[in-house]
Amino acid sequence: EGGGNMAAGGAGEAEDLCGPERPGAGGLTLLGLAPSAPSCPHGPALLFVKTSQGKEEGRRFYACSACRDRKDCNFFQWEDEKVSETRLAAREEYNKNYQPSFTHRQNVERYKNFVLLPLSKRRFCQECQQLLLPAEWEEHSDHQFLCDISTAQLKSPSRLLYPLENKKTNAQYLFADRSCQFLLDLIIDLGFRRVLSVGTPRLHEMIQSKASQEDFRVRSLLLDIDFRYSQFYTEDEFCHYNMFNHYFFGGEAARETCRKFLYQDNGERVIMVTDPPFGGLVEALASSFKKLMVMWKETEKEGHNNQEMPMFWIFPYFFESRILEFFPSFSMMDYQVDYDNHALYKHGKTGRRQSPVRIFTNLTPSMIVLPVEEGYRFCTVCQRYVSSGNQHCEICDSCTSKDGRRWKHCVLCKKCVKPSWFHCNNCNCCALQNHACEKTDAGCFVCGKAGHKRSTCPSLSHT
Ligand code: SAH
Ligand code: ZN
Ligand code: ZN
Ligand code: ZN
Ligand code: ZN
Repeated sequence: EGGGNMAAGGAGEAEDLCGPERPGAGGLTLLGLAPSAPSCPHGPALLFVKTSQGKEEGRRFYACSACRDRKDCNFFQWEDEKVSETRLAAREEYNKNYQPSFTHRQNVERYKNFVLLPLSKRRFCQECQQLLLPAEWEEHSDHQFLCDISTAQLKSPSRLLYPLENKKTNAQYLFADRSCQFLLDLIIDLGFRRVLSVGTPRLHEMIQSKASQEDFRVRSLLLDIDFRYSQFYTEDEFCHYNMFNHYFFGGEAARETCRKFLYQDNGERVIMVTDPPFGGLVEALASSFKKLMVMWKETEKEGHNNQEMPMFWIFPYFFESRILEFFPSFSMMDYQVDYDNHALYKHGKTGRRQSPVRIFTNLTPSMIVLPVEEGYRFCTVCQRYVSSGNQHCEICDSCTSKDGRRWKHCVLCKKCVKPSWFHCNNCNCCALQNHACEKTDAGCFVCGKAGHKRSTCPSLSHT
């Protein structure tokens, strides 16, 4: 058994724990990308091990990197399993058949023909999520379709396609215009001319649709697992890519496209912007992003003076410690990224929606100018823009709020905590008033020993 639901705890759960929650606690631990890993339709599978009480136990196994719901991809194989020739052949056949009906190249050709059609003949099949050429109407006659697909619609595929809403595997949360525009303005103000958009189709399309304007010089390459986008972009604008195993579905040619894009000519600076699914495995993402960083680094022989590829990683604030574990040079910005269709929204006191999603970046925080008209202000001590509610704590000597509300300092915890928390002498940390105490006399939740709680359990190994 294994495979299903490998997400490291639901994003919501992580929020109200005393310390950072680790995926090792009685779940599955990711061991990574093994060189000889078998492949599913989503590229090389990842190696996992079942853990219980923080210890590795049982057999290691491979499972799909992209799909955390077995309904989406049920690939599973024990690491030490002997797979028969027949099964290998069947698997190869299955992987081949699973590929989309049109190749990217074919889709590019189809698009060229599609834009030549008069408006009255431009149809989009909503069931197949596909632009239709007149010869194909018949096949789709009992499907719902949209007619008169305008050039504006073609330039905004994220509005034409329905967002994939499978919670575990591919929840597509699209930027609200305000946030998308903010990101683009910021990128331009920082002097970047190229954006590697990894799982940010809406940012990509905003850039693409402005690309025809005369004085707009920013270019973007979209890397995304959602192949529907190949209908709207050429092979120089979109690569079918899996960010959990750094897999280019288009093979070496697609990899080369990405490499070329990262190559900076005439000092055109590159930034990578990514907004991965939140249920995702942070270490798998980090490992892929590091490979993209290496790709960037290798594009210039001088090696960019030991710099890192600039990056915006958009992710909920409660993953801060996880991200910093892999990218110590990153810091979290207070800017709240807003979405059109986000389940994690809460309504704040002000009536404005509060988003838990932030920008993590390796750029100098003081350079990330946040909109003053939205209440952000510059803290001269911290040298960064902070939320209006984020007060500078004299004891911590930092603006400590993570969620935008004013946090309060707890002298016993020696840190600032959420306003709704109180110090619990039982747990020896701050928690919600009605929390269930992790009974200290019963010992640690993970290993059963007394003297510490699960958040500080020594048996939870750091990777
Ligand atoms: N806010 C972004 C969309 C983020 S939703 C925007 O508006 O542009 C997450 C994105 O990651 C989706 O586009 C989804 O298709 C993509 N994605 C999900 N799983 C992926 C994977 N394994 N590899 C690459 N992209 C993936
Ligand atoms: Zn798969
Ligand atoms: Zn401050
Ligand atoms: Zn404090
Ligand atoms: Zn406390």
